[in-house]
Formats: sequence, C-alpha cells, structure tokens
Amino acid sequence: MSFSNLNLAPEILRAVNELGYTTPTPIQNAAIPVVLAGGDLMAMAQTGTGKTAGFTLPVLHMLASMAPAHTGRPLALVLVPTRELALQVQESVNGYGKYLKLNSMSMIGGVNINPQIKQLRGKVDILIATPGRLLDHVTQKTLDLSQVKILVLDEADRMLDMGFVRDIKKILALLPKKRQNLLFSATFSDEIKALADGLLNKPAMVEVARRNTTAEMITHKVHPVDTDKKKGLLAHLIKEYNWHQVLVFTRTKHGANKLAEYLDKNGLPALAIHGNKSQANRVSTLAKFKDGSLQVLVATDIAARGLDIVDLPHVVNFELPNVPEDYVHRIGRTGRAGQTGDAVSLVSKDEKKLQIAIERLLKKKIDEEIITGFEPNPNAPSIAHTDTTNHRNKPRSTVAINRSNSTRNANSNRGGFKR
Ligand code: AMP
Repeated sequence: MSFSNLNLAPEILRAVNELGYTTPTPIQNAAIPVVLAGGDLMAMAQTGTGKTAGFTLPVLHMLASMAPAHTGRPLALVLVPTRELALQVQESVNGYGKYLKLNSMSMIGGVNINPQIKQLRGKVDILIATPGRLLDHVTQKTLDLSQVKILVLDEADRMLDMGFVRDIKKILALLPKKRQNLLFSATFSDEIKALADGLLNKPAMVEVARRNTTAEMITHKVHPVDTDKKKGLLAHLIKEYNWHQVLVFTRTKHGANKLAEYLDKNGLPALAIHGNKSQANRVSTLAKFKDGSLQVLVATDIAARGLDIVDLPHVVNFELPNVPEDYVHRIGRTGRAGQTGDAVSLVSKDEKKLQIAIERLLKKKIDEEIITGFEPNPNAPSIAHTDTTNHRNKPRSTVAINRSNSTRNANSNRGGFKR
C-alpha cells in the first residue's frame, strides 16, 4: 500500500513525499480510510507507530474541503496530555499541511496567555491544546468551541493517568453534539473503555502491535550497582560506549538537577528537564537534545511524556520507577519507528523488588551485567529491605544472569550480587 492509494489531497501527498515517507505505517493504513469516511475511531497505538500522521493527514484532508473557520472558532480540536506533545503535534500539522491554507495553533500552559488570545482573534482551523489552558480560555471567554467538527483525544490513557478526566468531561460538554471523534490510546483499560463508551458513536476499532510486545527491537539490561556508585557508573558507561544521545530517567526533579550537574562537570554535556523548568527552557533543552548538541537529557517521568525523539538509541533508568508501567513508557522512547535501541537500568539492592515487578509485566527476565569497578558490595546494609538474607538465599535458577567474561570474574571474586 502506498500513500497515493489513500485518497488524500495532492497537497498532502506532496508534503508527505518531501518528508521522505514512502509507505504508510499499519496504524495509518487502518485509521486514514476510517477518518476519511467520516466515522468515529478508537485506535490503540503507542507513540512511535506513526499515529500522529494517522489522524493528522485525514483531518487536514477533511478540513481542506470544509468552509473556512471563523475567527476564534476552530474546526478541529486535538487534546493532548502534555505541552511537549502539543508542540510536536503542531509541528506535524504544519509539516503535513504546508501546502494547504489551514492555520493551526497550540494552546498550552506555562506560557503567557496574551499571545494566545491575540492569535485566537485570527483564523484558527486546528487547535492543539492541553486541557488546563484550554479551560482557562473558556473561562476568559476567548475561545468558542461551537464549530468543532472533529475531536481528537491523543494519548487518552496518559490524560487519564495525569488526572484530566474531569477537565475532559467539561470540554466535551462544550462541543457540538454532532461531530467526529477520534480516540488514541496506548492501553485499553476500563477507564478508557468508559470514556470511549460515552464519547464515540459506533467507532471502528483499530489496534496495532503494542510496543512492549515488539520488544525484540529493544535490548534490556540491568547493571546491579550500589546507589552511591550510580553516578560514576553512568558517566563510565556513556564514555566507555561512546553513547551520543542518552535519555536518563530519575525519580525526582532534584535528583535530575544533581545528576545533570555531575555529568556536565565530568565532561558530558547534560541538562535536566522537569516540571519546575519554564516552558521556554524545556523547549530549548529539547531542541538541543534533538539536534545532537546536548549529549545527555535527564528527565523525570512526567516531563518525558510525549517527547518525540526519533531514533533515540539509549534510555537509562538511573532509578527504576515505582510503577512498573512507567518502565514501559520510559523505554517507549527508544527503538521507535522500527529502530533498535537499548534500555539500561542501574539497580541498587533496594530496587530489586521493582525489577521483579517490571520483569513480571514484561513477562521476561532482564539480563544482568555487573560492570568491573562498580561491583555492588554484597554486605552493604539494605535501606528498604530487612530480609536481605532471605533474598540472597533464593536459588540462582530463578535469575537470568548473562554476564560477559570480564565481569563474571569480578563477580565471583567479590561474592557477586544475588537475590
Ligand atoms: P508518532 O508515532 O506519530 O509519534 O510518529 C513517530 C515518528 O515516525 C515520527 O517522527 C514521524 O515523523 C515518523 N513517521 C510517521 N509516519 C511515517 C511513515 N509513514 N514513514 C516514515 N516515518 C513516519
């Protein structure tokens, strides 16, 4: 199947062609005909599958043939969970729509509202918004949603995770009853089902392979290490393997700042991105990371949601997330759009339980490798666990350990790291 079979306007095909896309991805093949036929859609697809073009291309096509928007009254509304995702979707809309006479706008928090109010006085066909700022505009009566013909809820599961359910319901109540609805979600939980039931009208269901079932693209590895040696080990790994674009996850904003400072002082250009940074700062940091001038980006989970960084080769979990599903979200940043990638986790003794929970979710053991010079001390007191003796006495057969020769020696000399 090629794009030319999808009945999209020639202006759209030209833009897609210039971007170098030759074949539609599975989600695009499945979603585009449904949207063009005017039906509602429930699509289960994660980032990296090409889902953004899956809804943007047909929405652009539909809008191009509609009567133009009145000022301040958008025809299509795309709701997204994060500011970064809003900016990325807008970038896609502008790229795919560059030969059409349609205007888009992103409406996000963290930036001055006045330029947005000014922009709304002009013609806006496609509005890409995060829920909070959109409702601010509604309160200030600077936005009129009465002409919306197409609604897209992108990454709906994350919107629910982030507590936006009430905001979404408020926004739905402001839209005209007759409209087309497209819902994209990486997971299909009961909450998503309930949201879809109330929102969609006889939707076509489309599902593409989940990223955590296509995990062959991603190599997972755990490096057991004591907490106080993690920073040194990370700097060592980046230098030793010459990693050029590394996304590192920490649990806290403070931890992200401290780690970025440490790496930077050690000759590895690094910056942190998290909720306390201004939107302008987040955008400029992300741009540096994308263009390759920033080697390491240290992020918290919330800040990293929605980051679209194509062909990201390395994701590091400096600390394992408390919620196993967040591991899947984190590593969703690597091995994207058919690329391979690796997910490396630095795991201290106190995080073993989290590792086991993640392995259960992935339905596979993660290979472990102890790095020479960073061997964990088996006698170090455990902070979180009081039953370390029992853990260490568990049979080895339950652990998939795949060590290189050099590290196997180091491990047997030092007593190793056992569960
Ligand atoms: P998404 O899942 O929408 O975040 O898209 C992931 C990446 O794949 C984006 O950087 C797109 O530019 C890229 N992409 C989307 N569709 C195609 C396609 N048909 N061929 C090649 N790359 C694509």
